[in-house]
Amino acid sequence: MLKITFAMINLIIIALLIGSCIMTSRRKNKFRRQVIQVITMGIVTIFWYTIFLLTPMDNQRMAVFTMGMYYLSIDWLSFFLAEYSIVYTESETFTKIPCYILIVLSVIDGVGILINNFTGHVFHLEAAYYAGTNLSYWAAYFDMPYFLHLGICYIMIAFCYISLIRKTITAPGFYRKKYAVILALIVAVTVINAVYYTLNLPVDFSVLFYGVLGIAICYFTVYATPKHVIERTHSYVVEDVGNAIFCFDVDGKCVYINKAAKAIFGSWDETECMKKIEIVYRVEFEQKLHGEKDSEVWEGTKNIDGREHYFNFEYRNMRDRRGNSIGCFFKLEDKTDDVIRFKEEQYRATHDRLTGLYNRESFFEKAQEIIKACPETQMLLLASNIKDFKLINELYGLEMGDKVLLKQAELIRENLGENAAAGRISGDKFALLMPKNRFDEERFMKSVEQLCSLTENNTYKMHVYIGVYFVVDQDEAVETMYDKASLAIERVRGDYQQIITYYDDSDLEELIHEKNVVAEFDRAIANREFCIYLQPQVNCEGDALGAEALVRWQHPQKGLLFPGAFLGIIEKAGLIYKLDYYIWEMAAMKLAEWKKEGKGQYHISVNISAKDFYYLDLYETFTGLVEKYDIEPDKLNLEITETVIMSDVKMHMQIINRLQEYGFHIEIDDFGSGYSSLNTLKDIKADVIKIDMLFLRETENQTRSKTILNSIISMAKALNMPVITEGVETQNQVEFLSDMGCDMFQGYYFSKPIPVQDFEGNYLKAM
Ligand code: C2E
Ligand code: CA
Ligand code: CA
Repeated sequence: MLKITFAMINLIIIALLIGSCIMTSRRKNKFRRQVIQVITMGIVTIFWYTIFLLTPMDNQRMAVFTMGMYYLSIDWLSFFLAEYSIVYTESETFTKIPCYILIVLSVIDGVGILINNFTGHVFHLEAAYYAGTNLSYWAAYFDMPYFLHLGICYIMIAFCYISLIRKTITAPGFYRKKYAVILALIVAVTVINAVYYTLNLPVDFSVLFYGVLGIAICYFTVYATPKHVIERTHSYVVEDVGNAIFCFDVDGKCVYINKAAKAIFGSWDETECMKKIEIVYRVEFEQKLHGEKDSEVWEGTKNIDGREHYFNFEYRNMRDRRGNSIGCFFKLEDKTDDVIRFKEEQYRATHDRLTGLYNRESFFEKAQEIIKACPETQMLLLASNIKDFKLINELYGLEMGDKVLLKQAELIRENLGENAAAGRISGDKFALLMPKNRFDEERFMKSVEQLCSLTENNTYKMHVYIGVYFVVDQDEAVETMYDKASLAIERVRGDYQQIITYYDDSDLEELIHEKNVVAEFDRAIANREFCIYLQPQVNCEGDALGAEALVRWQHPQKGLLFPGAFLGIIEKAGLIYKLDYYIWEMAAMKLAEWKKEGKGQYHISVNISAKDFYYLDLYETFTGLVEKYDIEPDKLNLEITETVIMSDVKMHMQIINRLQEYGFHIEIDDFGSGYSSLNTLKDIKADVIKIDMLFLRETENQTRSKTILNSIISMAKALNMPVITEGVETQNQVEFLSDMGCDMFQGYYFSKPIPVQDFEGNYLKAM
């Protein structure tokens, strides 16, 4: 009866084990193979033992066979158990060699046990009655080889012990249990097994424990994760996660905060921190907990201890199984650093690094926004520009240049306010958009004065221009408005009296005119629209010695144009060298013609502009012309203004000297109009000094002018330089100039500049 009951239990256990085996095989687990091996072998072992138990007492052969199979199964069960323990505990004790040895020994043992069916050299069974009962059972008697089998099994079980004990000791607290349980079950199996043998019991109860062990292994290895491991893991994750997390209970009491939350709220004291959170988040708590949504995310700012924080907020309501709210938690991702960094980058991209004002593009954008936003407000746009700002850098160094720019930005900022924007457009160019009613010209003049005072005690005098444009059309691009304000500056550039100038439409017309001149220039040269007029240069008797060639443009539509109408524009456009060369060549051709006609005693003076020195090799050019047209160099006089020479004495003098050596006569044009006329004389030995017509203008200081004229002339005489005075308009002037010793005259008194043919007809005489 006992045996039948036991067998039934075994069958149930087998069924459970098969179930465990199937479930394990469906799970993804790195120990799956080992667990299946152990369970399968457990099933086999229990199976053979059950068959053994049910073997009729009269069939000894069958009993020996099934018992043998049971022993054999135990060999492999022990082997797989050892392998499982080692792999599961990640021990490295079961290296390949002991593993092979154990396999070989198990095989030998197995073969021995099979042979035992015929020889009975390992064990034999005899029917017996359990002491004091009528319970019959097979009593086993063992011979030597059986102890080999036992030994092998115990060695393998020893491997289990070693690895499991070691792991139970070293594993972190809450993992210890899962190793300890398995270890305890193996110990139980071993002990019960030992008791069975020692007491020679009729039934081996340890077999039951194989089943329990199998199920336990399956559960602990594949299924169970200790609950507190999960809890602890959760709490670690929550505690250490980068986002701040804090929980409220239903009454609004803060019950949990993690590390990040403490950091944000600036205190490691939990209670203090929780109190702070309760106060700071009271409103949110009330709104959310009693609101409709169980979860919500949003972005926002929060002022904590005076510092603005940018957060990604997340709110969650927590509910129990029945759906009742048990509290809520907030998760805050602190984006303050990112936002600040982003803002800084944005700032850098839209602002000028030095002054902190808007950069060009951003100013235009911002200004446009303001104009659009205030359609009722009359706006104006100011452009400012420092004359020859480069000079400040060159004379005083970059530091001073920066200082000036910073000061200017500061002064501009003072005019900001509502509906205004300021920007640095480039270099020393600034722009300011502001409502017209706030513009105060006087105030701006004062600002300019303040700025100019930075370089006051030096020879260089800073000059600032401000161009003002009144916004008429709000749809006009701000860039165009700025261009117009700058255009107003262009008009007065060079005029030191002007500071603030207002744009008017004639500025635009002027610009259009300039553009047209430049556009037409090449055509005009090609069509030979430019010609020379000659103005005689005469002696005191009125006899012409030569003439100055002055350019005129015979424009097909506009008629005869004077240099004032186009020369400056062409010069600015960098085209003057083309025009000058054209004029020089015409003069050279004329001289050649005269020479041929026997009138070679007359000279023609041509004008050289400052830029010619940079665009042309003047020595090559003039000697080339002289050679090409076979004329005398001393008949092609070169007029260079005093200011041009003085702008780079060294460079200019080198060229001038070479030209003089070749035979050209150099006339210093507009002498006396520059700043350092006397200095000029020190450096240059000119062939003719041409006194500026300013000295002859009717002014209040007539006597002073005369005194200066007198001394210039006598000084030139002393230096052996002939003098010509231009702009002579009256006989009186001719007389006093003659008295002072002036050699030649040029002026309306004698003749205006006239067409070449007229000059030839009126003045030229053959020698
Ligand atoms: P500039 O070289 O000083 O030429 C003298 C200017 O004074 C000429 O004006 C002439 O017409 C004017 N003028 C002569 N006598 C009198 C007078 O008694 N009273 C008054 N009020 N004016 C007098 P223009 O021809 O209009 O030339 C103006 C300037 O244009 C010239 O001044 C010269 O700097 C420049 N220029 C003329 N032609 C050329 C040229 O071919 N090349 C270059 N680079 N410059 C030229
Ligand atoms: Ca001249
Ligand atoms: Ca002149």
